[in-house]
Amino acid sequence: MSDPTPALTDPAVDGDAPADATGASSAQEEDALLDRVRPVAGGGRDIKDAATRQVIGRAPEQSVAELDDAVARAKAAQPAWEALGHEERSRLLLAAADRIDASAEALARIVSREQGKPLNGPGARFEAGGCAAWLRTAAATVLEPEVVVDDGEVHAELIYKAVGVVGAIGPWNWPMLIAVWQIAPALRMGNTVVVKPSEYTPLSVLALLSVINEVLPADVLIGVAGGRELGARLASHPDIDKVMFTGSTATGRKIIESSAGNLARLTLELGGNDAGIVLPDADPQAIAEGLFWGAFINTGQTCAALKRLYVHDSIYEDVVSALGQLAEQVPMGVGLDEENVLGPLQNEQQFDIVSRLVEDAKRNGGRVVAGGSPAAELGELFYRTTIVADVADGVALVDEEQFGPALPVIRYSDVEDAIARANGLEAGLGASVWSSDRDAARKVAQRLQAGTVWINSHGGVHPMIPFGGVKGSGYGLEFGVEGLKAVAVPQVING
Ligand code: NDP
Repeated sequence: MSDPTPALTDPAVDGDAPADATGASSAQEEDALLDRVRPVAGGGRDIKDAATRQVIGRAPEQSVAELDDAVARAKAAQPAWEALGHEERSRLLLAAADRIDASAEALARIVSREQGKPLNGPGARFEAGGCAAWLRTAAATVLEPEVVVDDGEVHAELIYKAVGVVGAIGPWNWPMLIAVWQIAPALRMGNTVVVKPSEYTPLSVLALLSVINEVLPADVLIGVAGGRELGARLASHPDIDKVMFTGSTATGRKIIESSAGNLARLTLELGGNDAGIVLPDADPQAIAEGLFWGAFINTGQTCAALKRLYVHDSIYEDVVSALGQLAEQVPMGVGLDEENVLGPLQNEQQFDIVSRLVEDAKRNGGRVVAGGSPAAELGELFYRTTIVADVADGVALVDEEQFGPALPVIRYSDVEDAIARANGLEAGLGASVWSSDRDAARKVAQRLQAGTVWINSHGGVHPMIPFGGVKGSGYGLEFGVEGLKAVAVPQVING
């Protein structure tokens, strides 16, 4: 693969497009894209800018009958799409990536307003760029047949074929990028896809699909937007062969129940409560920025963000104060303003969760080192970047997924104890170990119960490195060759 995407949490990945060069035409293209996805026959629902709370567009509210029609069309289109072959499908995915690049600024503006993440930092421009990069990687990745026995008497191979119709159900935090994570490998392997975006962020996903569909044959990729009943129907639909889901554990459980009916294969990415362990030999100044962005990427609304940090007693105050300083300095505000790199919470429900958890931590002895309250002067859904020290396991801010800009920092003195506490929750998506001694860090990493353990960074993803959770964070791998296998069915050819 020639163009690996840099780590998702790398704050240097900011794609800073000059606003004056692209601003006016991008705004016009943004309006044109929003017009394309507007409901044709009236109806629908207004979608608000997460930062300003002004209406930015109107999303369709489609019915279960329309979803059923979409699945039927995707099913009818699938054999011809599979028959096109890998080379032609890859060519079309590369063409789709080029189209995304051409519309990247408009897509970034839409997702910035709808989701709240700023254009800059690891934000909206990064998200649009990531969509093109993941499509290109899916196009370039090859899933070879595997010879499993070849002993002169028996020759047996595993080959991989399309599953059929894939249902892609996504969240609101990285709506476009996570949709592409689900769509790109599925299309590559010859499946057709029906996408159900989150009710909170349908516009960016529908706009993205309309751009990709400029180059795909009809009905290979269909978006259906609407309420909760659509997701439930898509997951349980008898003609859906595979469900790719990213969202809450509660919804993941419902999808598992549905799969008892249609026997759909599942990939479930159910969020996490990632722990980081800072060993006593780490340099607080050297790791502070990595810790900060590990926790606060997308204002904390990231499945594999650092959500609880265990720091050795000997450097505890130094780490806490370095994080506190960054929290005070890093600019937060409306995403379309070029200077901001942190934004609002996407929705009221999430804002209330973060407020409740921080207030509870304060009542339970938490020391607020930075933030600790809403940033009402910035807008209704803004919450200050918050560092809470002197909390321990058992406090809700540690035990529950905050999914927002509030990091609890927990003191430990025995690394065995830190490992036990990191492993003590149901979640198992990511984790990290921070140390000047890579071998020591690797020893700790191997003992952590998480799908990925990063060393001296947190949360970076790469289109060729498999990604997925264990325990309550779900199952199945995305990205790379493993990601292609997840949207394929193996067949043994024996003879
Ligand atoms: P949900 O799990 O409710 O929603 C995720 C997606 O599933 C949405 O598209 C939703 O549609 C759809 N959905 C809802 N009910 C069903 C169902 N019965 N069957 C199939 N699909 C369904 O997450 P929320 O958006 O409500 O967020 C809740 C919590 O989940 C957050 O507080 C956060 O902790 C976590 N989360 C984790 C994410 C991650 O990256 N792993 C991302 C986002 C949230 P609709 O929008 O129409 O309800």
